[in-house]
Amino acid sequence: MSDSLIDTSKMSTGERAALELAESSRDMRELSGFAASLFDGAPDFGALFPFPEQAAEDKAEGNVFLGRLRKFLEEKTDPDAIDREGEIPDEVMKGLAELGAFGIKIPGEYGGLGLSQTNYSRAAMVLGGHCGNITALLSAHQSIGLPQPLLIFGTDEQKRYYLPRCAAGGISAFALTEQDVGSDPARMKTEAVLTEDGSHYVLNGEKLWCTNGLKAFAMVVMARTPTAEKPHATTALIVEADWLGVEVVTRCHFMGLKALYNGVIRFTDVKIPVGNVVAAEGKGLKVALTTLNTGRLTLPAACVGLLNRCRDIAVDWSGKRVQWGQEIGKHGAIAAKLADLAADAFATESLVLYTSALVDADKKADIRLEAALAKLWGTEAGWRGVDATMQIKGGRGYETADSLRNRGERADPIERFMRDCRINTIFEGSTEIMHLFIAREALDPHLRRGAAALDTRKGMSERLKAALRAGLYYATWYPKRWMPLTRGIPSGLDPELVSGLANTAVLSRKLARSIFHSMARYGPKLDRQQLLLGRFVDVGAELLVMSASAARAHALGDENSLKLARYICRRGQHRCEALFAANRGAPDAEGYKLAAGLMGGGR
Ligand SMILES: Cc1cc2nc3c(=O)[nH]c(=O)nc-3n(C[C@H](O)[C@H](O)[C@H](O)COP(=O)(O)OP(=O)(O)OC[C@H]3O[C@@H](n4cnc5c(N)ncnc54)[C@H](O)[C@@H]3O)c2cc1C
Repeated sequence: MSDSLIDTSKMSTGERAALELAESSRDMRELSGFAASLFDGAPDFGALFPFPEQAAEDKAEGNVFLGRLRKFLEEKTDPDAIDREGEIPDEVMKGLAELGAFGIKIPGEYGGLGLSQTNYSRAAMVLGGHCGNITALLSAHQSIGLPQPLLIFGTDEQKRYYLPRCAAGGISAFALTEQDVGSDPARMKTEAVLTEDGSHYVLNGEKLWCTNGLKAFAMVVMARTPTAEKPHATTALIVEADWLGVEVVTRCHFMGLKALYNGVIRFTDVKIPVGNVVAAEGKGLKVALTTLNTGRLTLPAACVGLLNRCRDIAVDWSGKRVQWGQEIGKHGAIAAKLADLAADAFATESLVLYTSALVDADKKADIRLEAALAKLWGTEAGWRGVDATMQIKGGRGYETADSLRNRGERADPIERFMRDCRINTIFEGSTEIMHLFIAREALDPHLRRGAAALDTRKGMSERLKAALRAGLYYATWYPKRWMPLTRGIPSGLDPELVSGLANTAVLSRKLARSIFHSMARYGPKLDRQQLLLGRFVDVGAELLVMSASAARAHALGDENSLKLARYICRRGQHRCEALFAANRGAPDAEGYKLAAGLMGGGR
């Protein structure tokens, strides 16, 4: 039987397998940090203030690289041509390698630049506003390809052998997805079997949509390594592309990211030395999830670059384009979009910088919630921002950059941006999966205390004892979630931000109480209430956005940042109230029944 906190005994086989696998790969540490305190209804602003400032030396080191990267991108790359031709020219690959862009975080001893997580995120911001294809190439290589898992889990030998090749421009990839495995790794078919002499694994299977797979010299492949006790065990293996039995079956093409070297990769009796296991046999999903914890920050960082660029284009156009007697930016409907663009760029940057600083302060920091919330909120904001910019630019937003250029107009690539960024809310954890992941983590403290009482797999006396323990705990926890206790708001803060944070604390307590009420109402069936949980997660995300933006604006101190943070706090408060209202009155159950009818053949 699984030691999962969640009672899976009444689930279907597929559901149980998916959930038990996810549970067994979770980080078992108790949640800590600012985001966790928001879901617990006791925001610890002391964990956020003062907003972590990048050390001067680290910033200067980053600035040198960012300056070179910017210059290279502006002078030596043509993102519209890359999009049009579906190829990244060899000179661009070579130039990026010479800059060290393939080994940004790889330590100097392995030939990399050895830059911090903050500087890596800043590089993703520069890339994200320029070229989605180059961003995806470098991000898939460094955030999920070989470097990140090897930096966390690699043996000295693996690091010495592979990292210098990665840093020098050897491209790597990460292969998890299969035909039947999207968000659910329990259905994985690719299998690695240990040889009798224990020296090798033999790998068979086929991976879908492997980014960089066409160019990679090596990839991290996730494979089943089932045992009698753990039939869904997975293992992460380093596989080199030129080994016998590794074959690129086809290149995949998409709506955007036209120059992604993404493909179907087949493995037929590929022999992999046991020394190429990452971490240990059976730890594959843990490797993937831990890698993604930090890896996930790259997408919102890239969205910061995208949002900054969209904001600049939208502001410029809104000031120049005159319709109905005035600049379109003076019409209320367009002005609101400009305000949101600027606010979302600032807010996403605040989330990414805050979480990156946590990693830089402690490589083992628990950023599960912060990184996931940044991914969820930042990629949705990126999509909203591009959509708003397209609306602001009207027909010119929908027109391709090449066509605009041909007509002698400024070739703003909004159409390309829209195609390229749509995938951000799907890969590296779709919005729906991020909602589930964050909800599971946010509920963890309650599950640890209360789940045993409701677990039908346990005996009655064990359940009663658990209920008593939980009752005692909640007898003090619950009343406190009604008390106006606010910790850690620093003195000297802008008065509007003080009230923004006070509202954050009120909403955080309401969030914790509402989660508690829902647990009491739905019991073990709460996980079925995906929309309800999703809205709780969205409230938590807004609260983190409000707090991080306020803290960063306070640290920056300029009027522009303060104005943005004040707006973000007010907007966040309204959004949270709307989300709570939706959880009270939205016709979720009716919608679910309607969908069930549709799936049953109705219309
Ligand atoms: C351009 C591109 C690049 C990629 N690069 C890589 C790569 O390098 N390596 C790699 O391994 N994979 C890669 N992928 C795969 C990508 O990570 C998957 O597309 C993603 O995991 C989602 O899987 P799926 O598309 O099969 O969707 P599915 O898992 O089939 O999901 C379909 C829809 O159902 C939703 N859904 C699924 N389960 C649930 C649930 N329990 N509750 C609520 N909603 C649910 C999803 O959110 C989604 O909206 C790439 C994909 C693309 C398109």
